[in-house]
Amino acid sequence: MNQARKFFDIDDRLTELAARTEQEIRPAFERIESNAFQNQQKVLAAFIHNGVGESCFTSSTGYGYGDVGRDKLERVFADAMECEDALLRHNFMCGTHALTVALFGVLRPGDKMLCVTGMPYDTIQSVIGISQQAAGGSLKDFGIAFEKVDLLPDGSVDIPSSLKRLREDPSVKMVYIQRSRGYSLRPSLTVEQIEEICKAVREVKPEAIIMVDNCYGEFVQLTEPCVHGADLMAGSLIKNPGGGIASTGGYIAGRSDLVELCSYRLSTPGTGREVGCTLGHSREMYMGLFSAPHVVGEALKTAVFCAGLFSRLGYDVTPQPDEARADIIQSVLLQNPASLIAFCQGIQSGSPVDSMALPEPWDMPGYDNKIIMASGSFTLGSSIELSADAPLREPYAVWMQGGLNYAAGKTGILIAAQRMLEKGQIKALASSLSE
Ligand SMILES: *Cc1c(COP(=O)(O)O)cnc(C)c1O
Repeated sequence: MNQARKFFDIDDRLTELAARTEQEIRPAFERIESNAFQNQQKVLAAFIHNGVGESCFTSSTGYGYGDVGRDKLERVFADAMECEDALLRHNFMCGTHALTVALFGVLRPGDKMLCVTGMPYDTIQSVIGISQQAAGGSLKDFGIAFEKVDLLPDGSVDIPSSLKRLREDPSVKMVYIQRSRGYSLRPSLTVEQIEEICKAVREVKPEAIIMVDNCYGEFVQLTEPCVHGADLMAGSLIKNPGGGIASTGGYIAGRSDLVELCSYRLSTPGTGREVGCTLGHSREMYMGLFSAPHVVGEALKTAVFCAGLFSRLGYDVTPQPDEARADIIQSVLLQNPASLIAFCQGIQSGSPVDSMALPEPWDMPGYDNKIIMASGSFTLGSSIELSADAPLREPYAVWMQGGLNYAAGKTGILIAAQRMLEKGQIKALASSLSE
């Protein structure tokens, strides 16, 4: 007899609900597996086509001139993203840094950046110079202007208003699109929706630089924004494209002339991409990129399971379990601070690393609200690993993402639900089982 052993004290009713949830989400899992298979082939083909060899993993020091492994990795990544060129470096300290290098790399004094997806992600607001927390050295300090076009009430991009601003204001040099939802409840943008925006922008201003904050979007769909008309995109390696293996870093990818400009900002005008030693990071960056399609699939399954379970428990979730996804993020509207804190503490206690830590809300640099973050990860702050964050503000939504493998991700979600149950926060358990 195949008797399941109990390693965690999960209420039998939750276990039963989880089993029913998994029945219901089977079609979504099939779609995820099919995408992962195709993306894995794309990445494998890029490795083979570029002739990745063991010698690519050697470490360089100092200036890092002539580091063949570093340069080849950037070729492999550009091929995997199906764009002209890419910078993929451990020297990018986080996603915000990669985005910042891209913005400063291509914008000049007197230019305007027009964000068509409403208010950008919290940390980018400081980069632009519109955060409540004043920071020196912002785009604004350098005479680069910013304007946003708010999303429509349904969360979609207001294309007519965006085009109107493009026509009226010749200083708009860049159209900026944030693919993922960040700490908002709008839907993430699919690459098809990004294509629609790009086509419309090109008709009014063909020379506009269309830049995409691609954080959390990589390998979720079959193609990336640059295939659909974007000129430049950037993201973090401790999210999707690092596959849970890269221990730091980020990327900028897209049109080769723009990537070159960014390289002069990353290092110095003149040296550009030629400098930058790899200090032994190459092997894990190659390995992480190779694993990324699979790991993104596991994270997506974890997100769909979370959506399915919590909607059965009576919570509003977005996206819905069966909805098409453009990133790995799952929001659950937990309705009150106590539930939010219990959920995050549950995720933490179900993590492989730092399970004994008890996360509390705190004033995190770069953010305007108190934030609670659960991340028991091998890489500090890695959010391709199971993690949950939430600003303490209405409607007390949590944003969870990651999961290096589905079995562990599912367990983490169950432990979070169990903690909420123990804190008296789940009222509808009996009724959700009788449905
Ligand atoms: C994660 C993220 C960033 C960058 O954040 P870092 O924490 O600096 O890596 C930017 N934009 C969005 C939408 C993100 O999700």
